[in-house]
Parts: sequence; structure tokens; C-alpha cells
Amino acid sequence: MEARRWLVRAQSRERVWREWRHELHAHPELAYEERRTAAFVAERLRSFGLDPVEGLAETGVVAVLEGRRGEGPMIALRADMDALPIPEANTFAHASREPGKMHACGHDGHTAMLLAAAELLAADPAFAGTVVFVFQPAEEGGGGAKRMVEEGFFERYPVREIYGMHNWPGLPVGQFAVHSGPVMAGTERFRIVLRGRGTHAAMPHLGDDVIAAGAALVQSLQTVVSRRVDPLQAAVLSVTQFHAGHAFNVIPAEAELAGTVRAFSPELFSRIREAIERIGQGVASAYGLSLDVEWDEGYPPTINTASAAARCAEAAVALVGAQNVCREAPPSMGAEDFAFFLQHRPGAYVWIGNGPGEGGCLLHSPHYDFNDELLSLGAAYWATLVTHVLSA
Ligand SMILES: [Zn+2]
Ligand SMILES: [Zn+2]
Repeated sequence: MEARRWLVRAQSRERVWREWRHELHAHPELAYEERRTAAFVAERLRSFGLDPVEGLAETGVVAVLEGRRGEGPMIALRADMDALPIPEANTFAHASREPGKMHACGHDGHTAMLLAAAELLAADPAFAGTVVFVFQPAEEGGGGAKRMVEEGFFERYPVREIYGMHNWPGLPVGQFAVHSGPVMAGTERFRIVLRGRGTHAAMPHLGDDVIAAGAALVQSLQTVVSRRVDPLQAAVLSVTQFHAGHAFNVIPAEAELAGTVRAFSPELFSRIREAIERIGQGVASAYGLSLDVEWDEGYPPTINTASAAARCAEAAVALVGAQNVCREAPPSMGAEDFAFFLQHRPGAYVWIGNGPGEGGCLLHSPHYDFNDELLSLGAAYWATLVTHVLSA
């Protein structure tokens, strides 16, 4: 493996890559609006001698690089490009110039790291096979990966494996975390509507009370995870919205609750769904109300393939040493649409340490910033992984 060599080369380019990352950070774009970002990516890829395809899933960009060491498998490396609808609280020079939008998840850094890797590998394609660089839109809830798959990504690029990487605040710079199985949870969204006969606040006996029932329902839902889920399995149920009423003297006819469920297995999701519906119907009937539950499928759980994860860990160990590659980190209850790629091909998604997260430098915080120290390390990791997986 040639980890050291890649790292030395990467470090010599770091100053330029920082400029790229700052440029991307200053101009964040939301899901499916990443036109400036996509143009930036495509222009850089062309400058490395690649021939990018644009407009996949609206704003996605893909480029293919053939190795110079002959025949071999095709693998994909993926970065996400979208920002979040968060007003940036940072005041440094590269802070967002787009009001209300911010790269608060580090996708500016992911894009820069994958571009940097494309630059390194295009200059020295010392591998046997083909690398597909994937810059996807709309990771933050928009399902850009799902859309790429639906539009025929794997038919067009029949890759054997696909790899992803996310920066991770709380993990020190210079460290990686690699999970052999589950790494990010799956999500589902629910919306519950309680309906009854609204009435005068002073005459509750002449109607039904959706507010009292809604409050009871929120309480009862707390027992779903604590009483219906194996204590050794991870699951979260959070009620995050409760809307009802417009006046102080009216008991409204309708209340709406909404929230999210996180878990790692389809069986657990159906168990939790069932429990929510049963408790909901029970509470509604106890209060003389009707109830509707709507489900919105979010992202499936992100489950790494053990063999692909092992290759990622080997590449990371070659780069930073075994003591800096954590194989035992618990998975996150956050979600990631890279999961849609992993539903179709083996692969793995690793975390690269972004530092301690001090001063609110946490994912989705208005004080977050991607750590530029990762640029050369991340690029060298991608290049090392490619030459390792596609070694002749
Ligand atoms: Zn995010
Ligand atoms: Zn993210």
C-alpha cells in the first residue's frame, strides 16, 4: 500500500484544496439546487483530464477514471454536495454569503476531499480497474442517492462496490471509525391527527377534548421504546410537533402530532409502527375521538458490508496506524441516504475525525465548520483505498 506517498502528495496540494473548500462553504446550496457547486466540481474534474457527466438526479456529477494497470473491477467513491437551511453564526472570512443557508454538515469538505482524491488519482492512476467519482445532490432529507439509483446509476455504472465517508465531530483529527455492520440508523416520520367535536372551553362536557387526549398520547408513546423494544436493541421515538388550537376559550376539534422513529432493522420498524397505531387507537377511543396515522418512509439504515469495511479499515490503518482506527464505535442514530446505494451494492461508509466539537462545532450547528486539516488526510485515504482495493 502506498499510503505515505499519497499523504505527502496530498499535503503539497493542501493550500489549494483549502481555497476550494472555502469557496464551497461561502456559497452553500440546498437540495437539488447545487448548480454552482456542480459547475465548480465539473470544472475541476475537467481540469484533471476527466470527462464528467452532469445533471444526474438534477444536479449530480459523475466522472470515471480508468486505471493504468490493466483490467479490474469498477468501484465508486461518493461525496454529497448539499447544504442546510440554517443561518450561519460564524463570522470568519469564508462564512456563508447565502442568507439562511449553511454548510453545517461538512458536505463542502466531503466534496473538496473527493475532488482532491480525483486530482491525485488522475495524475497517477496506479491501479487496475475503474473508479467512479460520485458527487450526489440532496443528502439532507431529499434522497438524492435514492433518485440517482432510480435513474439508473448502477445500470450506467455497474460498480462492484461503493464507498462513502463523513466527517465526525467528537472523533479526534487523525482518527477514523469503521463499522463492520450498522453505522447509521434508518428513519421513518409519522403524523397523527386526532379529531373530535370541538366545544366551548367552559362547556367541555358538550364536546371532546383533543388536547387532553393528545397529551395522554404523547405520554403513552413513551412506553413504545421502553416496553415494546428489546432493551439490547437501539431505537428512538421522538414526538417533535404538537399543533392544536387557536383561541384561549375554544377546545379545538383537531390536534396534530408528528415525530420520527429511528432504528436499525425492518422488523423493529414494523413493531414500533404497530405499537404506535395500537396505542393511538386505544387513546383515541378512550377519549371518544377518531385517529389517523400517516407514515412517511425516510432513509433505510446504513449497513456496511463487513468485507468492504475491512478494506476501508486496512486503508485507514496504512495511513494513520491501527491505534487511530476505531472498530468498536457505536453506530449513530442519525441517518444517511448513502444507505440507498448500499441497498444495491456492497460497500462501506466511514467516519473521519473532525476534532473535539468545541465551540458548537457539531453537525447541523450554526457554529459548525469542516476542519481543513482533514482535506489532505481524507484525499489520501480515498487514494489509498483505491490503490488497495484495485491492486493488480
Ligand atoms: Zn447532515
Ligand atoms: Zn452530512
